[in-house]
Amino acid sequence: MSETKKAIVITGPSGSGKGNVVKKLLKRFDFFELSISATTREPGPGEMYGKDYYFISLEEFEKKIAEKAFLEYEEVYSGSFYGTPNEEIEKIAQRGKFPLFEIDVAGALRIKEILGDNVFVIFLHPGEPVIDILRERLWNRGRDSGEKIEKRLKKVPKEIEMGFRCDQIIVNQNGEFDNVIEVIAEIVESFLFEEK
Ligand code: 5GP
Repeated sequence: MSETKKAIVITGPSGSGKGNVVKKLLKRFDFFELSISATTREPGPGEMYGKDYYFISLEEFEKKIAEKAFLEYEEVYSGSFYGTPNEEIEKIAQRGKFPLFEIDVAGALRIKEILGDNVFVIFLHPGEPVIDILRERLWNRGRDSGEKIEKRLKKVPKEIEMGFRCDQIIVNQNGEFDNVIEVIAEIVESFLFEEK
């Protein structure tokens, strides 16, 4: 990642609103480019190779691990691997943009370890009661089965704990989305463009 100086990570539990925040930031700021991850999970309805993820087989994923092709990777849910390709970050840097990452909390902390002060990690907290709010949002999203939702919720207490190691916790409470975006936009612009 030699050419890029700074990057932003949006992280948080499943249902915390990462996807919506990232969509808004990409629309608002043309200096960002989304880092597309590789995954071994199946594409969901409407998801496209190279737009949502690089959907690859476990065999291909393992090959990439061996080639050290990932900045970081995690088995986010048992049997489903997700990784940030180094190549993706290099391409974004070559285009003169800042990478925007939407990844899980363990991966976000790993990127923080690697990139240090060059990255700012924003953790989205869903508000209290955490599990009830996330369960409701995941059901409303309608993408995952009840079993998958419960699997995602099991990880949440640990993720909330890890959130305290991120650079900033933002509470993305129901009904507060517009305010949350304004707060994040200010943080992002100040981190990327203001001299410390
Ligand atoms: P989903 O299956 O809902 O698209 O993603 C599941 C989780 O994996 C989300 O928390 C998402 O942010 C995370 N994720 C996506 N790409 C990556 C990646 O490259 N690395 C890591 N560590 N997590 C990722």
